[in-house]
Amino acid sequence: MGDTIFGKIIRREIPADIVYENDDVLGFRDLNPQAPVHVLFVPKKPLPTLNDAQPDDAELLGKLLIAAAGYAKQEGLAEQGYRTVINCNEHGGQTVFHLHVHLLAGRRFTWPPG
Ligand code: 5GP
Repeated sequence: MGDTIFGKIIRREIPADIVYENDDVLGFRDLNPQAPVHVLFVPKKPLPTLNDAQPDDAELLGKLLIAAAGYAKQEGLAEQGYRTVINCNEHGGQTVFHLHVHLLAGRRFTWPPG
């Protein structure tokens, strides 16, 4: 399942505040939240970065976004809005090499990002 901190969370080897789970996706609160709501959605299948996604992973990538949007709707965040982010490699600011979607909500975000 990949030897990253997120793999350990998926395998329940280290604790996390898990807020969402289905067969393919786990969602848990970011340890260092950048907004009032900051949840990470990870595929249980360990893809290191978005670069590693293959055409066969299209359904899984869709499931990640559907999970994030579904959670936002369930939590009443959808109408005001939110931001989803996938960081990739050094210039994208990726620090954990297990693909994840950030769901940030609960405040207004600026554009362009820093
Ligand atoms: P990245 O920079 O790779 O896009 O995002 C990694 C995120 O994982 C960061 O926002 C960071 O705060 C979060 N993070 C790093 N280690 C842990 C951890 O052990 N537990 C949780 N819940 N989040 C973590």
